[in-house]
Amino acid sequence: MKNKYLYIETFGCQMNVHDSEQMAVLLADIGYKLVENSQKADLILINTCSIREKAEQKAFSELGRLMKLKEKNPNLIIGFAGCLAQHLGVKVHSRVKNVDLVFGTHNIHRLPEMITDIQKERKKITRIDFSSKIYSLNIFVPPSEGSLCAFVSIMQGCDNYCAYCVVPYLRGPEMSRTPGDILDEIQKLSRCGVKEVTLLGQNVNSYGKNLKHGSNFVSLIKKISDIDGIDRIRFTTSHPKDLSDELIDCFSRVPKLCEHIHLPVQSGSNSILKLMNRGYSTEEYLRKIDRLRSSCPKISITSDIIVGFPGETQKDYQETIDMMEKIRFDSVFSFKYSERKGTAAQKLQGKVTETEKRQRLKELQALQDRHTQEKNTELEESVQELLVEGRSKNSEQDMMGRTRSWKIVNFKGGPELIGKLVNVEITRGYLHSLRGKMIDR
Ligand code: SF4
Repeated sequence: MKNKYLYIETFGCQMNVHDSEQMAVLLADIGYKLVENSQKADLILINTCSIREKAEQKAFSELGRLMKLKEKNPNLIIGFAGCLAQHLGVKVHSRVKNVDLVFGTHNIHRLPEMITDIQKERKKITRIDFSSKIYSLNIFVPPSEGSLCAFVSIMQGCDNYCAYCVVPYLRGPEMSRTPGDILDEIQKLSRCGVKEVTLLGQNVNSYGKNLKHGSNFVSLIKKISDIDGIDRIRFTTSHPKDLSDELIDCFSRVPKLCEHIHLPVQSGSNSILKLMNRGYSTEEYLRKIDRLRSSCPKISITSDIIVGFPGETQKDYQETIDMMEKIRFDSVFSFKYSERKGTAAQKLQGKVTETEKRQRLKELQALQDRHTQEKNTELEESVQELLVEGRSKNSEQDMMGRTRSWKIVNFKGGPELIGKLVNVEITRGYLHSLRGKMIDR
């Protein structure tokens, strides 16, 4: 059989990356080999993200570029997938001619069948229906050779309807995989050499809500920690309103659970949090941070913040800055608010100008850089356990690993350390990484 080549361009979050990996696994069964060069491909998939306007623009400009390949090769199949495909459906065909396939987030498992139909009949296909079952999440993605870390989706969708967010409309209602399916997948990953798993979901804290027999996120973490070969467990993302005391206690009681939590706060102003429909107040968020730090003093805390949400006054913005000063996050992903069609926030009054948003973001990021640098400097002379992931990007003589608190450390060492847990003494804290000296394995 002649080799057929597949090229996938992925935009957006880790969930999308994982979806693309699943697409590659499914298409390998019908003879497609993944390549890194679109020129060579017989099938091109663009896996899109719709969370931010910028990602949407990038996806369409990439689609336009790839369409030129189709002019040279009419047999080339081009598919548009992911959140944006889910959102636009058939409109993609009228916006860009010659797209063969548009399919949404619940139709990944149908990919081989859809591609076979296109090959036979050269027809255009659009599949954006939601399914009431989790098919796609149960597709096993073998880790690439030598890979020590893997992502495991434990749920899909979201029921929260934050006012700025399109995810509930594009990924459907929240559904959790069964603990049995998740544990089977992690056992397989462990047999392939994986040592660290990151559990993925839009809101992992509410895992199990739709399952019978009382499964919840805490019981899942405890079962995963019993799997031989898995040394480290992480998870993302957590919704502050669903972060329970029981889960907080896991950071001190489950040794394999790494001391890091990504807990998006989005704003430090109660009136903005209310407009965002986040379901907690600044005071409640601060209490959870105190609780986390008293249960696990070494925990690193990262967050997401949006500036310039409609109605955000200078006073609201200042409250966010004050909250950041109180908490001193380890790092923050910060963004200017961008309007998404169909969300509740689109109808809100009090739009903040681009200039104001830019200015607020700049100040906020400067403050966060100061906090990150201080936090990293505080780690100097401490001993940190690293899982060595590979060579450092900075130097041939250096290796790179991550601390349990999710910080990158570069240190002198050889490739024989890859996959090992080693202890290093931190000699220097920089803004984006740490420097260390290995003291033992
Ligand atoms: S929790 Fe809110 S921000 Fe996160 S995916 Fe759900 S709706 Fe979007």
